[in-house]
Amino acid sequence: MKTHVYHITYGPEVATAHLYFWGCNMRCRGCIRLLYGWDSHLPDPGGPKQAINPRLLTVDEVIEALAPYPVRRIFFLGDDASADPALEELAGALKERFDAEQVLLTNGLLLPPFHLFDDIQVSIKAVTPALHRDFTGVDVAPVLEHFQFLYGVGASLRSESIVIPGYIDAPEIRRIAAFIASVDAEIPYRLDAYISVPGAPWRRPTMDEMALAVGAACQYLRHVHALHSGMKRRYEVTRLV
Ligand code: SF4
Repeated sequence: MKTHVYHITYGPEVATAHLYFWGCNMRCRGCIRLLYGWDSHLPDPGGPKQAINPRLLTVDEVIEALAPYPVRRIFFLGDDASADPALEELAGALKERFDAEQVLLTNGLLLPPFHLFDDIQVSIKAVTPALHRDFTGVDVAPVLEHFQFLYGVGASLRSESIVIPGYIDAPEIRRIAAFIASVDAEIPYRLDAYISVPGAPWRRPTMDEMALAVGAACQYLRHVHALHSGMKRRYEVTRLV
């Protein structure tokens, strides 16, 4: 079966694979994929997503690409893996073949096959409906409902937001954190510093602006940390596909 996977990288030190999916159901104005269409942690990450003509892999091709390596952890990321109709089949086949820890990064707009993931990180762009629609082009309600549902079924949940100065900054981050805390104040929350992308009007936040956002989130949540621009994965990756 054809999947939406078009690119795979691997970190040998930590036996971790990264599956990059093609196709998203949001149209975020500040999407990092407008800068990096391939794994941005490669020594030469190449150009933006718009420059790629993807070749989508089958489930068997994904397994074949990973088969020569020890695999302890698999990340499902890129655009949105949940938008791939083959996700359940792929995640099930990988679980059976490698029995690795499977981590899904998703925007939460669709409900994923949660039973196949050991960790699900939901990116909440905003909770104010008009702001979410302005940034992503879609309603926030399903995202919040799915987040509550996933918690209710016992999924291991994390959350993440992008801090954008003057747009989605401390006041909105406080509201997002209040929502997450209404589910469970123990859910880990990561704040990413926005990286400027072509065509969007915003700049990168300063360290002080990040600190304000972290402080706002900490009013509600117990496990908040920030990922400042320029921070890299702690391991090297090579390209498999
Ligand atoms: S949900 Fe993520 S991948 Fe999709 S458009 Fe938004 S930032 Fe980009």
